[in-house]
Amino acid sequence: MVTRLVEVFDNAFVAGNVPLRAKVATWIPPSIVPAIQRDKFRRLIGYVAKRSPFYRRRFKECGIDVRNVHTPEDLGDFFTTAEDLRNNPVEDFLCGRPELGFETTGTTSTTTKKVYFSRHEVADMGRDGAIGLYNLGLRPSDRVVDAFDYSFWNAPFTLRAALDRLGCFHVTAAKIPPTEFYDRVRDYQFNVLFVEPSWLVVLTEIARVRGVWPVKFIYTGGENMSEATRRFVEAEWATNVYMGYGQTETFGQIGSECPAKRGYHIDDFNLCCEIVDRGDDGYGELVYSTLSREIMPLVRYRSTDITKFLDEPCTCVLKAARRLAKIRGRSDEMVNCGMGNLSPWFFEQLLDDLPEITPDWQVAVVRTGNRDTIEFRLELRDSAPIDQVQQAVTRRVRERIPDSWRNYELKLFEFDFRFTSPGQLRSGRKLRRLVDERVRAWE
Ligand SMILES: [Zn+2]
Repeated sequence: MVTRLVEVFDNAFVAGNVPLRAKVATWIPPSIVPAIQRDKFRRLIGYVAKRSPFYRRRFKECGIDVRNVHTPEDLGDFFTTAEDLRNNPVEDFLCGRPELGFETTGTTSTTTKKVYFSRHEVADMGRDGAIGLYNLGLRPSDRVVDAFDYSFWNAPFTLRAALDRLGCFHVTAAKIPPTEFYDRVRDYQFNVLFVEPSWLVVLTEIARVRGVWPVKFIYTGGENMSEATRRFVEAEWATNVYMGYGQTETFGQIGSECPAKRGYHIDDFNLCCEIVDRGDDGYGELVYSTLSREIMPLVRYRSTDITKFLDEPCTCVLKAARRLAKIRGRSDEMVNCGMGNLSPWFFEQLLDDLPEITPDWQVAVVRTGNRDTIEFRLELRDSAPIDQVQQAVTRRVRERIPDSWRNYELKLFEFDFRFTSPGQLRSGRKLRRLVDERVRAWE
């Protein structure tokens, strides 16, 4: 009932009026959030049980009677995983006719995850995303440029949906080399930039030499950014850099930073977030259920991202909107960096049949200055020439992973090689193939 009343009020009086929505968001008492979430969650479970072949089947297999499910906890250890999305046809998840499709950019396996939406859903998410951007100071008079990758990725469409509400002037540059971007955008007087962090570092290095222009703020998405890098970029441009956090599975929106830059505000009316497998420090894996999606809703989806809820109230106007801490890492071995979304599988295709090295290898992502470095730790067989191995690996990246090679040419990351003699790398039973050694630098 409460949910219905809120929806009627929302549609009738607030609708597409972004400044009013932003104002209303500050009036919402946090106490009404749990009741609305519970109501929407219950409706979600009934909806997917009726319409999605996947959930109908899985609920039956797990002996779940949806009439008894009122909260996420009522589902016990029932979750939806990335493997579920990979191993089942996307049609099994659909509850309505899709109009837009995206793929996850991950490379944990050769099978991609497909996520579908309707245009109506995208417009709704744009309306809500616009509030976050309005809160950061974006206004219709601002001039926006984005340099997001458009290939199968949703980020540029997420931005577009929000800008449709705000009405800013917008040009799409897409992910072109930063030098070309720098040369071509000067005339436009863009004062708000939407970009990926690694790419932004290269642009900033160019701007440091050739000069910056006045910028209201820079918004980044797609990967994490260390605080040191943020400070570097902010100092060069004399502006604020804000980060957004999302996944393709959520149309790129889970949370957004506010002017306080202390965590991501989440939208509890559209996403029911939980932290599971929580440690003593409160950190655990983020799991979310989509509360408003009609085409491809997800129930307790395991994000694999490690974060926690921030309890202290925020200093910005969105006091009622809960916050998630910056992502600390991933629960699986996947690593997100300038080279792309990396997984052990990613490097197997480069290293496993290289005759000059042993099968024991490790790849580390380390931080060198403001850039990610992919450090190959390889055990060299007797008298194998080092140069030859280095050339073979880089050639394979160029030939086999063109997306990463493109990022390499854009100077978004660097390669480094450390060689040891056979038997040096493995100390225990299992050798961790991929390690992210930048984690401490994010704090
Ligand atoms: Zn805030």
